[in-house]
Amino acid sequence: MKKLRFIFCDQLSDSISSLKNINKDDTIFLCEAMDEVTYVKHHPKKIAFIFASMRHFAEELESKGFNIRYVKLTDPFNTGTLESEITRAVQELKIDHIIITEPSEYRLKILLESLQKSLGIAIDILKDERFFCSPTEFKFWANGKKQFRMEYFYREMRKKYKILMESDGSPVGGQWNYDKENRKSPTKNLKSPKRISHKKSDILIDVLKLVEENFSDHFGNLQPFHFAVTRKQALIELDDFVNRILPYFGDYQDAMMKGETYLYHSLLSSYINIGLLLPMEVCKLAEEAFKKNKAPLSATEGFIRQVLGWREYIRGIYWLKMPDYGELNYFEANTPLPDFYWGAKTKMTCISEAVSHTKEHAYSHHIQRLMVTGNFALISGLNVKQVQEWYLAVYSDAFEWVEMPNTLGMALFGDGGIVGSKPYAASANYINKMSNFCDTCHYDPKEMTSENACPFNALYWDFITRNRNKLEVNQRLPFVYSTWDKFSSEKQKAIKNKAAISLLRMKNGEL
Ligand code: FAD
Ligand code: SF4
Repeated sequence: MKKLRFIFCDQLSDSISSLKNINKDDTIFLCEAMDEVTYVKHHPKKIAFIFASMRHFAEELESKGFNIRYVKLTDPFNTGTLESEITRAVQELKIDHIIITEPSEYRLKILLESLQKSLGIAIDILKDERFFCSPTEFKFWANGKKQFRMEYFYREMRKKYKILMESDGSPVGGQWNYDKENRKSPTKNLKSPKRISHKKSDILIDVLKLVEENFSDHFGNLQPFHFAVTRKQALIELDDFVNRILPYFGDYQDAMMKGETYLYHSLLSSYINIGLLLPMEVCKLAEEAFKKNKAPLSATEGFIRQVLGWREYIRGIYWLKMPDYGELNYFEANTPLPDFYWGAKTKMTCISEAVSHTKEHAYSHHIQRLMVTGNFALISGLNVKQVQEWYLAVYSDAFEWVEMPNTLGMALFGDGGIVGSKPYAASANYINKMSNFCDTCHYDPKEMTSENACPFNALYWDFITRNRNKLEVNQRLPFVYSTWDKFSSEKQKAIKNKAAISLLRMKNGEL
């Protein structure tokens, strides 16, 4: 029986289930499909990172003696879609059995269903065992719950995997959560520690050329390129993060600084998402650092919470709620995405910083995604589909299963409260407290309605009041409406007017 083992671009782990019990006669198949990199115009760095990692992964497997079929983007016979390329491989190699690990995205699940019908051969779809929690297990956890809360899910995962747990079943240190000790405002001269840059392999050099020739019209800078593109390199980054940076992760988790993209974040999401690193090994190494007194409990717990808690919870929600989830738009937010998300000039320092970090590095850290670009999109009522498309295109770690619940659910509250219990809407106060952006901004964070008042302030109240019928019942927003109601009617009118002017200026490219 001739078997084809197909590997999606985010399944680059040699422990992936589709490679188990492999026979040396089987063919392992990877493909660079044009359709996959253009259905949204992905950041050039993201395309280069993924293609170079795929090519290295294939080369490593080949050096171990496996048969590899690798179709490059520019191969003359490449038909450009995964569906047509799998079909072509099946016909050319006379395959009668496909083995595949379940895809991470809903659209690829549909693709496999279509292939199953058209090819008429056996396709074994195996579980993706790299995650801590399967979609079925998450469904079981979610069953009967009126509201989901990440915190309780996370505790279950801690107990199940005995991570940061005492032998009597209590959390190490007596608390589940050290958020109060983490998330400090930045100190005046806070700087990012120097990050690793890897020597470029011939494979990477070829891929960078390919991307430059084919995708220079996509948003984002290809160079300089610092990503790890092999498991070996990704392990070096993991080790460096755990030993050098993790101790400060918690303290500066929410801090933002002008010109400082990375601060004390791990930069590991892209590696975990495409399979160069496994979430379990990442958590275990962090836990080990704590046990050896190399990192404090607050930072270690804060980090593990993100990987074991948030990442798994987000995936659980995605598979629980798709496909209807992608159509939700709780606030009916439909204002077109302004050009400054694509790099056009804006006088708002926080936005121009977050966008320029994104353009340069295909990265911005969680708080910039959530409280700057996400918050602005939420309070301005930007079109939820366009916002999601932006997040999916511009970040090197963006795959729909993780991007969508984070964007639509966490940042935009477009799911009406499935991911989070209240919208992360904030005025300039939050950004001013957690960053130095406002210090050099054209706008004044303390002003509400004057000519140079920060647009976030009036837009915040505009959001709160125009969605009153949907939000007033939310018990996590207790004082917001009573505060608004205490404003004089002149003040309320001036705020509404200022918000309208800001939206008009945004539309005209003048904000
Ligand atoms: P760190 O801050 O060092 O966190 C450690 C790890 O925890 C990350 O590497 C990641 O694996 C995990 N993690 C942390 N928060 C989350 C979260 N909310 N969801 C899932 N995993 C998490 N993450 C993606 O991987 N892909 C996305 O497409 C993506 N889109 C996002 C869109 C929005 C609007 C928001 C608010 C968040 C998004 N995130 C996404 C989550 C988070 O911002 C990134 O995982 C994180 O910024 C990656 O940088 P890091 O590796 O330095 O993370
Ligand atoms: Fe952003 Fe407003 Fe601060 Fe300027 S003043 S950086 S627009 S929050």
